[in-house]
Amino acid sequence: MTFVILPKSFEIIICLYLNLPPYLCEKLIAMKEICIIGAGTMGNGIAHVFAQCGFSSTLIDIRPEALEKALATIEKNLNRQLKKELITEEEKAATLARIRTTTRMEEAVPEADLVIEAASENVSLKLDIFKKLDALCKPSATLASNTSSISITRIAAATQRSEQVIGMHFMNPVPVMRLVEIIRGYSTSEKVSMEIMELSRKLGKVPVEVNDYPGFVANRILMPMINEAIFSLFEGVAGVTEIDTVMRLGMANPMGPLQLADFIGLDVCLSILKVLHEGFADPKYRPCPLLVNMVEAGHLGRKSGVGFYDYRHGGKELIPAERFAKSLGGTSR
Ligand code: NAD
Repeated sequence: MTFVILPKSFEIIICLYLNLPPYLCEKLIAMKEICIIGAGTMGNGIAHVFAQCGFSSTLIDIRPEALEKALATIEKNLNRQLKKELITEEEKAATLARIRTTTRMEEAVPEADLVIEAASENVSLKLDIFKKLDALCKPSATLASNTSSISITRIAAATQRSEQVIGMHFMNPVPVMRLVEIIRGYSTSEKVSMEIMELSRKLGKVPVEVNDYPGFVANRILMPMINEAIFSLFEGVAGVTEIDTVMRLGMANPMGPLQLADFIGLDVCLSILKVLHEGFADPKYRPCPLLVNMVEAGHLGRKSGVGFYDYRHGGKELIPAERFAKSLGGTSR
């Protein structure tokens, strides 16, 4: 997919052609400066997609090494697109040129038209970030969170602009996955929701609007499946490879639930399950003790090198982690 930056007059014609109301045209055209808080798995993908679509994107992280790693990842992913002839050498260079990085939020966010928070999945951290953003950002700025499960209504209540706070739940890997789950908090305005839906389309994504209840739609359905797969392993029903093979070949899933959990990050999965468990006060969402143990041991999946599988050999072959490879079937408690 290639993207062109159009002169303003053309953008207006396109907006009118798409039958968008004038205020929405103006807002979308005015939306140029995007800040992304958190340069991890999701943050780098979000910055990549915005920059590729012509937006000036600033990645912000408290850890300089996360910013370095994010830029390297974006370049690697652009090279992959280049190799597949999805983009040209010039588009790659232009995309990289539109991405800036900083460790100082106060330097970048005052100019932003839209801030997307993609920091670690932790309620108090996110509430603190949104309080700061509310104080630093211009009044017209929209504040979005990429949270997988934390209440947008709760996040919005930490600000004085709850009608301008919304969930923009991108899927991993962001440059590849087309869905964006758009979560309307209790106070999110119709206008902001329409703007963000339209902006997502402008990024080449398919937005789906959902209401703000624990796990929204995607994780309310996905996480119980992952948790059940971990319980099946924990209870010795089958091994890592067997569980994933059943779900891959039997249900035509592109990857098994344990591999997917490793890909998402086991800490992220645990946080989401805790939100579902607490939010619905229903024991059916109780996180499997094996998942809790693995997170406490720092075995977080792909990003830490080991989870249900071992990624440290660097090859493409899926090798169950030593602990799960011990017995026949690779089961373990
Ligand atoms: P990650 O652990 O890969 O990255 C989080 C980044 O946030 C880290 O680099 C960390 O240094 C940074 N950070 C922490 N506190 C910060 C602060 N105060 N200011 C700036 N940066 C800060 O996490 P991730 O997987 O990218 O997840 C980020 C968000 O996206 C979470 O809310 C998660 O639930 C959500 N999400 C994750 C996935 C996934 O598959 N991993 C999918 C959809 C949504």
